[in-house]
Amino acid sequence: MVEKMLKFVSLGRAMPGKRPPEDRARDFHEIYAEFAAEKAAEQASRCSQCGVPFCQQHCPLSNNIPDWLKLTAEGRLQEAHELSQATNNFPEICGRICPQDRLCEGNCVIEQSGHGTVTIGAIEKYINDTAWEQGWVKPLAPTRTRAGSIGIIGAGPAGLACAEELRKKGYSVTVYDRHDRAGGLLTYGIPGFKLEKDVVMRRVKRLEDGGIAFKLNFEVGRDATLADIRASHDAVFVATGVYKPREIDAPGVGLRAIVPALEFLTASNKTGFGDTITDGEKLNAAGKNVAVIGGGDTAMDCVRTALRQGAKSVTCLYRRDRENMPGSLREVTNAEEEGVDFQWLTLPKGFLGDAAVEGVRISRMRLGLPDATGRKSPEEIKGADYTLQADLVIKALGFDPEPLPELFKEPTLGVSKWGTLRVKPSTMMTNIEGVFAGGDIVRGASLVVWAVRDGRDAATAIHTYLENKAAQPQAAE
Ligand code: FAD
Repeated sequence: MVEKMLKFVSLGRAMPGKRPPEDRARDFHEIYAEFAAEKAAEQASRCSQCGVPFCQQHCPLSNNIPDWLKLTAEGRLQEAHELSQATNNFPEICGRICPQDRLCEGNCVIEQSGHGTVTIGAIEKYINDTAWEQGWVKPLAPTRTRAGSIGIIGAGPAGLACAEELRKKGYSVTVYDRHDRAGGLLTYGIPGFKLEKDVVMRRVKRLEDGGIAFKLNFEVGRDATLADIRASHDAVFVATGVYKPREIDAPGVGLRAIVPALEFLTASNKTGFGDTITDGEKLNAAGKNVAVIGGGDTAMDCVRTALRQGAKSVTCLYRRDRENMPGSLREVTNAEEEGVDFQWLTLPKGFLGDAAVEGVRISRMRLGLPDATGRKSPEEIKGADYTLQADLVIKALGFDPEPLPELFKEPTLGVSKWGTLRVKPSTMMTNIEGVFAGGDIVRGASLVVWAVRDGRDAATAIHTYLENKAAQPQAAE
């Protein structure tokens, strides 16, 4: 038999084609094309099938990557899909938006030996998009019914993965979310050019069709307390994410048209769904000089959204340099190609304007000595300030948890010094009996793949908790 694998010695790394910048920067469609079948098989055949699969070890879901690459190389796509979905509730979503360069692909053995990584993410997307097209993604159908009822607060990837796993086991599951659509940041944070929304919505529909109840426009804290939700269910999973935007402390920051990143991105995603937005004009970059402050992935999503809305100019202000920014270099490159002006080593020291912002006063920075974490600290260059004209400023400095004990009217709910929910790692339970938590609200701002992992682990922990409870002798009346 002809050996199908180990082709990295003769075959170079190739990604699916990227749409040209001038074309893709005019719409919100994804920028990468799909692999053709032969190309996916060819690229999968580059895997060296090394004995210790570092790709799998560095995947938070321990995806069985070497095996599904081999099945793809052999043309056994349906089996590849089955293996891929066995460890991941949203494989075609992770294929699109995981930072593979930091996880599986970054640790690929042939990457380490200088041959260029196997393009794992693009192949994962190809396998699972094909599965949807071919009807291999099966409906969610529990094989038995169990008595327990579980309430899940938050319909992001953590909440949805937990809901699916518990429903599969036969529990009755209700998901509460304050938004009008499920999906969390998959729906209203991440823009369509990274993740088209029908990809998320078909997953949500599958869960609804599988009997999971969604109570949308339902905010815990406003429409019910945590105690109310706990009283209605046998167990509760809190997966509310982190939404308190970090602020800039500079004069003029209260001027009109200085907006938080997520308000801007949510409005853009809602517009994409065809919704009418209150404050639509304020949150639209069309015809404006836009300044985005921050250097993470949220900032990259904002600059590229502003370009697509038809901004006159888009500038990204970041206090460190390109090498030291937290965002994925892949996304920075995409933004650069699309025409974003990056002004590295800059810090806003004030905002100018009467009622609405008209400009940003900027300090130039240089990188000083490394701090305790080893990162070089930016320090101001005196007398080198300048002004950037801007009539929309977007603050993308990261997120902290909202004060959940206060919001949920549950003052005893245990939180860390950062405000994230405290859970016992082995059980994922908070200090309130039967209330579990996971995803960003426990980890702080993290990644979709970690949220899925937490959702799956929480489902196992909740199942164990309910089984143990059922096995306990009932207290005498
Ligand atoms: P979320 O996705 O935040 O979902 C929480 C849900 O809880 C939301 O739907 C919210 O409405 C709901 N909720 C909150 N409070 C309440 C309440 N009181 N009552 C009812 N419902 C409530 N990660 C990647 O891996 N790749 C990326 O490319 C990427 N891009 C990103 C881009 C942006 C702009 C942002 C902000 C984040 C990005 N991330 C990315 C991070 C990723 O989206 C998160 O780590 C992940 O979504 C966390 O999942 P979660 O389920 O914990 O929370």
